[in-house]
Amino acid sequence: MKKTIKDIDLAGKRALVRVDYNVPVDEVTGKITDDSRIRETLPTLQYMLDAGASLVLMAHFGRPKGKVVESMRLKPIASHLQDLMKRDVQYATEAVGLEAEALAQNLGPGQILVLENTRFYPGEETNDPLFAAALAAPGYDVYVNDAFGAAHRAHASTAGVAQIIKAEGKPCVAGLLMARELEFLGQLLQNPQRPFVAILGGVKVSDKIGVIRNLLPKVDTLLVGGAMGYAFERAQNRPVGTSYFKEEDAPIAAELIELARENGYDFRLPSDFLVADRDAVDATTKIVPAGGIPDDMMGMDIGPETIANYSSVIENAKTVLWNGPMGRFEVAPFSRGTLQVAKAVARATDKGALTIIGGGDSAAAVKQMDLDDKMSHVSTGGGASLEFLEGQELPGVAVLNNKVS
Ligand code: ADP
Ligand code: MG
Repeated sequence: MKKTIKDIDLAGKRALVRVDYNVPVDEVTGKITDDSRIRETLPTLQYMLDAGASLVLMAHFGRPKGKVVESMRLKPIASHLQDLMKRDVQYATEAVGLEAEALAQNLGPGQILVLENTRFYPGEETNDPLFAAALAAPGYDVYVNDAFGAAHRAHASTAGVAQIIKAEGKPCVAGLLMARELEFLGQLLQNPQRPFVAILGGVKVSDKIGVIRNLLPKVDTLLVGGAMGYAFERAQNRPVGTSYFKEEDAPIAAELIELARENGYDFRLPSDFLVADRDAVDATTKIVPAGGIPDDMMGMDIGPETIANYSSVIENAKTVLWNGPMGRFEVAPFSRGTLQVAKAVARATDKGALTIIGGGDSAAAVKQMDLDDKMSHVSTGGGASLEFLEGQELPGVAVLNNKVS
């Protein structure tokens, strides 16, 4: 267990706080299209301000690749935060340097400063000790990480500067959002209530192999859907037609089938698919059994038999992890599998199960279907949640102080 902001004294302290404000923006207007990442940090910020701290916030935005990109400045994000907090939020046009340092040092209790995009500096992603030292230069009493979504990266703002502040004997702790992520995801890996069912889908097969490998021995049933299913079809020498499929994923899939067979794991693959002649709302579709994807058609969703089978497994679970949509849900005729699985997970929650959604597109899917409130927890970290579920310790978490038990 990691220490959190609730475990330390914050009165009169100057805190350096890493947040995840990498929000989606409209390409044309530059307006924030979904501010949930900002809103999710408000309880942490409010708690700290109420406790008498002054806050210096660090965040990255977009991929400026170590250079200043005008459209990726944090100014609009700082002003949005100001609106949400209903209090003055200062903004520094740099993350390091004399001006930022002076602004940070002049903050009084209850005041907030947002530093410029950390990724404007090449030293952020390389975790350059000089850049980390520059971030630490104003002198901080506390380091807080509330950016779970960035915790799998050993960057200067998530790891290097924390090491420096820690070496000065100052507390390095989790924010409330980070603590919630660790608590929920941690429950999946430690003593989950059974039956424990994991549902894996989406397109990023190679990214999710590590998760499947780590979870297979821990779960009672693992259900596969989405484009991932075609790698398993091909692994069994079955046709995949024009489905989304990468040849290099087939041997990995074959290895997992073998691993499940050798150990007798309950590892389920779709028994039928919805296929389409093309990826469009007005496509011609039909249902085919596994092994029967026609050469000129693409798999777009799991079929009705698979939906029924998966739904009954999910509804009887006491713990559910879901990562990756069951089909190309963004296009209406291909959304049924994802919607029905989401509903089954929601019913499991109603029956008292712990239900956790990981993955950016899966989170978007349950939001789009208005079922996000029906899940115990929707993780804010895509890549971070996957690495956590692979059993890896995230660098941004490892550096935080442990609770003494
Ligand atoms: P997550 O972000 O939840 O981890 P991924 O990024 O791995 O999930 O995959 C999400 C994407 O997978 C979605 O955009 C969805 O359209 C796509 N997808 C799922 N099934 C299929 C399919 N059968 N064919 C094409 N794309 C699919
Ligand atoms: Mg994704």
